Amino acid sequence: MPYATQPTASHFINGAYVEDKNGTPIPVIYPATGEVIATVHAATPAIVDQAIAAAKSAQAAWAAMSGTERGRILRRAADMIRERNHDLSVLETYDTGKPYQETIAVDATSGADALEYFGGLAGSLTGEHIQLGENWVYTRREALGVCVGIGAWNYPTQIACWKGAPALACGNAMIFKPSETTPLCALKVAEILHEAGLPAGIYNVIQGMGEVGNALVTDPRVNKVSLTGSVPTGRKVYAAAAAGIKHVTMELGGKSPMIVFEDADIENAVSGAILGNFYSSGQVCSNGTRVFVHKDIKEAFLARLTERLGNAVIGDPMDPETSFGPMVSERQMTLVQGYIEKGQAEGARLVTGGKRVDREGFYLEPTVFADVTDDMVIAREEIFGPVMAVLDFTDEADVMARANDTEFGLAAGVFTRDLARAHRVAAGFEAGTCFINSYNDAPVEAPFGGSKNSGVGRENSKAAIEHYSQLKSVFVRMDDVEAPF
Ligand code: NDP
Repeated sequence: MPYATQPTASHFINGAYVEDKNGTPIPVIYPATGEVIATVHAATPAIVDQAIAAAKSAQAAWAAMSGTERGRILRRAADMIRERNHDLSVLETYDTGKPYQETIAVDATSGADALEYFGGLAGSLTGEHIQLGENWVYTRREALGVCVGIGAWNYPTQIACWKGAPALACGNAMIFKPSETTPLCALKVAEILHEAGLPAGIYNVIQGMGEVGNALVTDPRVNKVSLTGSVPTGRKVYAAAAAGIKHVTMELGGKSPMIVFEDADIENAVSGAILGNFYSSGQVCSNGTRVFVHKDIKEAFLARLTERLGNAVIGDPMDPETSFGPMVSERQMTLVQGYIEKGQAEGARLVTGGKRVDREGFYLEPTVFADVTDDMVIAREEIFGPVMAVLDFTDEADVMARANDTEFGLAAGVFTRDLARAHRVAAGFEAGTCFINSYNDAPVEAPFGGSKNSGVGRENSKAAIEHYSQLKSVFVRMDDVEAPF
């Protein structure tokens, strides 16, 4: 390995790396080769307790600092992440297999965006004054306390920052548990935050599978849980958090629609469909995997899409020319292969792809099915891989009903040159994040999150502040108290 991929230790607690080899070993596998590049250990109950205790005892002093002071540390960390973008991107590529071409542009940099944005907001977080005649109420915006972040494996650096930045800006302490599939990147985020001046105990990272996540969620010292994961995991974590009446943010899965009307700019729509289906080898929660294309332009769309997919450079993810990498794990690849087989068995037309790439690692070809119908499994279930389903339509009202006929509501997109139709369609989508003539943009300034089974709460933007703080009302009486007896 040209880069050191074995971390100093498995966990980062109270400002330092901590190891406990009694925990189950978790091999870290480089998806491009199948090679084991590091081993970490799942947190033992002692490690879980140590992390929660550290967060709990450090949080009050952090909350007592001014927002400007807290923000300065987050912004310093953002600058350090940008300076170290190359090394962090290489590590992200080892952790996930995503091409360096992507990680250098998106992963650490979007984490830095979150730290910079919430660092900037921290000094302006306030309550309000409510005058009631002579008397008045003021509200204090207070931290929740100890927050737990649980991450999926597709954006390990970004998720660690998207949860950490608003939590810390509001004066909370965080314990972050990355996915066992991608345990390396969040440790670097913790390291950098502390180098930037974060007090010990405010951002901790511990490793482990679902049971470690569950131990964190059910601990009475934990006040809030933010999960990025699948709907089934979301159900379990939400229920466990509900037992303790804890605050939650749930960023869950999707099966989002993308509608391409007959007047759309086909080249743009194809670009949107490529971004919304094949970036990160399709392992993006908000992907527009049900692409409804108007019958009049369907064949032109498919022809251009196939041509453009032929330009994908599939290969070594560390090569800056590579634009399409492996799946994150053998397990995920096998799962997606199962969906490809189902699509063929159900009678969808395989337009391109469908096979494993003939090289080491967990590579699948970018795959497009056409003539997909609403009832097919590949049109209903989240695949989380490079598989696009193209469905036909002719009528706007009909396609809207079909687009919304899903348990999910994470994202949705529309391509059209008709302005009125674009906004009408966006208003009609039952989804938290919508795109007009674009797909999968996620700027930190805009709320991001799902409706229906895709989640509750919002990440990014000022909206996230509501999910990491609570208001206390203080009634101040200036006149006398009137008692009935
Ligand atoms: P999973 O739901 O399998 O896991 C998510 C995280 O939850 C992992 O860290 C996992 O640990 C942990 N976990 C599992 N069971 C429990 C439990 N009972 N209690 C506490 N924690 C638990 O998701 P994946 O990692 O497979 O990620 C893919 C999914 O994430 C897709 O559905 C995707 O749509 C969604 N996602 C949503 C995003 C959004 O913002 N809406 C963004 C990115 C992905 P471990 O894996 O280590 O066992």
